[in-house]
Amino acid sequence: MGVLIRPELRIDEARFRANIDAVRSRVAPSSLMLVVKDDAYGHGVRWAAETATGSGVEWIGAYDVPTALTLRETVPPETRLFAWVTSADDEIAGAVLAGVDLGVGSPDYLRRVIAQTERLGARSRIHLKIDTGLHRNGFSREEWTDGVETALRAQQAGTVDLVGVWSHLAEASDAEDDEANARFLSAVSVARGLGAGSLRTHLTASAASWSRSELRGDLVRIGAFCYGIRSADGPDFPGVAPIASLVASVVRLEEAEAVVAIGALDGLPSTLSGRVVVGTPGGVRLLRTVGLDHVRVEAWPDARIGDEVVLFGPGARGEVSATTLAEAVDTVGEEILTRLGPRVRRRHV
Ligand SMILES: *Cc1c(COP(=O)(O)O)cnc(C)c1O
Repeated sequence: MGVLIRPELRIDEARFRANIDAVRSRVAPSSLMLVVKDDAYGHGVRWAAETATGSGVEWIGAYDVPTALTLRETVPPETRLFAWVTSADDEIAGAVLAGVDLGVGSPDYLRRVIAQTERLGARSRIHLKIDTGLHRNGFSREEWTDGVETALRAQQAGTVDLVGVWSHLAEASDAEDDEANARFLSAVSVARGLGAGSLRTHLTASAASWSRSELRGDLVRIGAFCYGIRSADGPDFPGVAPIASLVASVVRLEEAEAVVAIGALDGLPSTLSGRVVVGTPGGVRLLRTVGLDHVRVEAWPDARIGDEVVLFGPGARGEVSATTLAEAVDTVGEEILTRLGPRVRRRHV
């Protein structure tokens, strides 16, 4: 194996499939929507969507319309793509023509989706979002009845199909999530009372989907756990493990340190210096400093130029995950992965 001149994110496809299986069996009978925002949390969006749909996942949470359109040709035609970012009219039109499910979180956005769909003479699929307490996006309780009625009128006119009701949890405390769930269920029942037919309901992301079965709708939107990223300071979950290792090569040996080339890797916070260990051929060693294009690691006996160092991931002997690094600098595992720049080669093995 040659010396890596650039760091490599080595991604274990079998492990990813195993995580997906573990998550799916945990949340059954709810269905999994795999969330692939931020380039599938740094793992590669096309690969993630292809692999997941190959394993039988029927829903992909694409986040925005451009991502959904990128994936339309990649995934099987029956795969449902869900895009929930409020989008400009031309993007709405693209989504409608491609059969992308739209998350709709405001009266204005609902009007625009209906207008674009009418203009195209098409039919769109929408999931209305009720605000259950996060106040980021979503119909307020006061706006809800009107929103549902507007959607159902458009449905009768043949313009939209109201196929779902959804919201997002703060996951700050169980009590708050219970309250949010009560608001959610009441919004669902208002929609059913007004005549909404078969609705998909979805509220929970990784942590609540895993641990709080009573909050699951018939869909769950999960990113982190499928990629094996556990919650910061949270427990490990059986059957779920990290899928990616960040690997780089030793390019120089200086006294008691191995210098490892990481290129212009803007992803590794310099505050990690002196706080974490990394995997080396000689076992785990202290990461002494993080520089602009290299890191310095405490040397091991017989260290050689070309040796591979695992900065995090299952390849690192001694449980160094992206979340472990994240905890050392008070952030979350997603942050470490999604900040890895495009120069880091993704290799799916
Ligand atoms: C990111 C996101 C998710 C997935 O969250 P994880 O904690 O990574 O599982 C679900 N729903 C929405 C709306 C999100 O933005």
